[in-house]
Amino acid sequence: MTDFSHLIRSQNLIDGAWVDADNGQTLDVTNPADGSVIATVPNAGSAETRRAIDAAGAAFADYAAGPLGERVARMRKLHDAIMDNLEPMAAMLTAEQGKPLAEARAEVGSSAAYVLWFAEEARRTDGAIIPAPLPGRKLLTTRHPVGVVAAITPWNFPSSMLARKLGPALAAGCTTIVKPATATPLSGLVWGHLAEECDFPKGAVNVLTGSARHIGGEITSNPKVAKITFTGSTEIGKQLLAQAAGTVKRMSMELGGNAPFIVFDDADLESAVAGAIIAKFRNAGQTCICTNRLYVQSGIYDAFTEAFSKAVANLRVAPGQEDGAEQGPMIDAHALSKIGALVDDARAKGGEVVTGGAPHDRGGLFYQPTVIANANKDMRLTTEEIFGPVAPIFRFDDEDEAIAAANNTEYGLASYAYTSDLGRAFRLQDRLQYGLIGINEVLIVSPEIPFGGLKESGLGKEGSWQGIDDYLDTKFTCIGGL
Ligand code: NAP
Repeated sequence: MTDFSHLIRSQNLIDGAWVDADNGQTLDVTNPADGSVIATVPNAGSAETRRAIDAAGAAFADYAAGPLGERVARMRKLHDAIMDNLEPMAAMLTAEQGKPLAEARAEVGSSAAYVLWFAEEARRTDGAIIPAPLPGRKLLTTRHPVGVVAAITPWNFPSSMLARKLGPALAAGCTTIVKPATATPLSGLVWGHLAEECDFPKGAVNVLTGSARHIGGEITSNPKVAKITFTGSTEIGKQLLAQAAGTVKRMSMELGGNAPFIVFDDADLESAVAGAIIAKFRNAGQTCICTNRLYVQSGIYDAFTEAFSKAVANLRVAPGQEDGAEQGPMIDAHALSKIGALVDDARAKGGEVVTGGAPHDRGGLFYQPTVIANANKDMRLTTEEIFGPVAPIFRFDDEDEAIAAANNTEYGLASYAYTSDLGRAFRLQDRLQYGLIGINEVLIVSPEIPFGGLKESGLGKEGSWQGIDDYLDTKFTCIGGL
């Protein structure tokens, strides 16, 4: 296992200084694979947050007005620094989050890719000259960084979720306050260290760990924060939207999902099974775009269920650091017991556990990869985000029925379908009420695409040219009397 101790930061970064919490309190960071303590981080609150916001506010004018070429060069340097540290950053991510090392490497690589993408987008934040309806006037639009940005991120992608926020914010000329999830703060704090190494000015990146309620309370109520960008549950996203209403901030929300995965009779069975394994079991089912519900057409139901269950039963459950690990532990005891409760509920309502269905022999936070056939809409896992390695399979007869069932949720993040009918592929694209649609493909995320949910899955897009747009205000100027 690659040594990552040199990347551990056990203090917060505020105004260019690494500091403890005012009250001296710390929180343990544990490895979910074995419960060992990896490090401690400060348990900061409102006062520290206010100082970080003041620092970001003080740094903003100079950072935003600095030469664009310099900003782009720093972003490129940041990309290179992440790539140079890919192995220790991936090892650290696996240690605090639990995902297999191969997935952690991919996540850190994707963080670097987002930074590079936004370094390039920084050069394209141009405005427009609008043809004037009257003579003697020039009508112009120009785009400007929104100001101080606060980013709050979840534990399941502690590196790349931050990259999708810090990347566009810093590229646009904004200064930032970052609050990583308490379960995985090290992959957030390391960005403070990298930003210093890459010569970002003091105050441009501030990183705080500690009380979500107090840090979030200050961020949402402080008028100096122009924008909040949040990735996490819909429940907390709604709270933040309500809390921030008093100061009318710009809000970007990447929230929960309940992704359907539809397999039609005409699908290629082998690729549907391979796709379903990735879409369901990546990060032990703990991603916002993980399949929550598999809908399989009657003609292929038995063949798919058999082949899929066989592949699921063969998944290698092991600590993320172990060679060949395909599924790591759950993030914490609460997540483990929630999975158990959802499976019990499904069993009681007629679900057939084809494989798995219990905690794994490895003990601790490991759960068996699980398939439940004969799923029905009364089960809790139809409406709740499972966020674990449990795959319920529903049966359907025709396309209309599948689409109606897929859309029957307040969520609208990711959806998947396997079919060899081109006409159907386009009908699905029209009718699935989701921000992301993968047809015969599950690896659908990259910096080039506008990632974001519809309905209660979110507001705004991360990635693509739209990703930087969310960090810019458009000003209109009319110059008359010409
Ligand atoms: P969460 O409980 O909503 O927490 C997300 C972040 O919000 C954490 O940093 C958390 O801090 C913080 N937080 C919690 N309560 C807060 C409050 N009152 N004020 C301010 N901040 C607060 O979500 P999670 O369990 O970490 O992540 C899983 C969820 O994220 C799932 O619903 C998943 O679908 C969603 N997600 C969405 C996307 C997307 O792109 N749409 C991507 C990944 C994950 P603490 O850790 O200190 O509690």
